[in-house]
Amino acid sequence: MRFQFGQAVTHIEGLHFWAGGKPWAAKQIVVCSGADFETLFPEKFAQKPITKCKLQMMRTLPQPDGWRMGPSLCAGLTLLHYEAFADCPTLPLLRQRIATQMPQYLQWGIHVLVSQNGMGEIILGDTHEYGLHLDPFDKEYLNQWVLDYLEQFAQFPQPLIAERWHGVYAKWPGQSAWVETVAPGISLVNALGGAGMTLSFGLAESQPEKKSYHNIPQFTK
Ligand SMILES: Cc1cc2nc3c(=O)[nH]c(=O)nc-3n(C[C@H](O)[C@H](O)[C@H](O)COP(=O)(O)OP(=O)(O)OC[C@H]3O[C@@H](n4cnc5c(N)ncnc54)[C@H](O)[C@@H]3O)c2cc1C
Repeated sequence: MRFQFGQAVTHIEGLHFWAGGKPWAAKQIVVCSGADFETLFPEKFAQKPITKCKLQMMRTLPQPDGWRMGPSLCAGLTLLHYEAFADCPTLPLLRQRIATQMPQYLQWGIHVLVSQNGMGEIILGDTHEYGLHLDPFDKEYLNQWVLDYLEQFAQFPQPLIAERWHGVYAKWPGQSAWVETVAPGISLVNALGGAGMTLSFGLAESQPEKKSYHNIPQFTK
């Protein structure tokens, strides 16, 4: 297998494509272009109900004296966010309470996940804002609501926020992924939504062409 970094694929025609301004040939092409709906097969994206989701994130300064949080944390709002909890019998009551007492958390898909990285920083997220034309500016009130909710279940020796940013992923509402053969030997794999870090390797394994996934051909110029 060979990785070629820093080269945008700008055009695909049959099993030939152009990357970094040069033509290449492949035995199979799998297009995983994430939230870039405009460059490759834009007409396919335009035909689907695929959209984008913007998530606001924060992280603290490193915690002092090697302080470690232990396992990652979440709280009640997370039960409302992930389908995996859909069978929980008390979920409708929880949703009703949140809808009454803090509706903005449902409106902006806010739930709070907390984890610590190797540098001792606490990573905090997230919010969910959907649409094809997402605002480049972050909404500070969303960050504040994340922090307000966090305060109800966790405190840290060093709570100061050092950095804020946002990420964007592709999402097909109601579906966990989009896999489509668009031409002989060419498939699109996209829209893993908020679970792509978790599901991608399983999805790759489950594809009928998995041998080819494992043995992406040596590209020849
Ligand atoms: C803030 C945030 C938090 C998340 N948290 C979690 C989590 O806790 N658990 C979880 O499972 N998932 C999480 N996710 C979701 C996960 O990151 C995504 O589902 C996953 O990254 C999607 O993978 P992908 O390969 O389809 O797209 P991407 O990761 O977006 O990768 C697509 C890549 O293709 C490149 N590309 C696009 N067009 C071209 C082109 N023409 N030529 C060359 N390269 C191109 C892009 O530059 C990009 O590097 C989170 C996402 C965000 C934004």
